Amino acid sequence: MTGLSFCCGKKRYATERTARRALRFIDSVAVGRHPVRVYQCPRGWWHLTSQPTYGGTPR
Ligand SMILES: [Zn+2]
Repeated sequence: MTGLSFCCGKKRYATERTARRALRFIDSVAVGRHPVRVYQCPRGWWHLTSQPTYGGTPR
């Protein structure tokens, strides 16, 4: 995992913008179940999640 930053056991993103950019990329290449939205965790990092409504603050 060296070189990549993780939080909550997931890859972390510093800003909503970078998280959304990653989400859009994954959405364009992924097959099957994949993240559908981004959320900010209590530590202030952004993560991708495949949960439609659970796991973070709705925006
Ligand atoms: Zn986190």
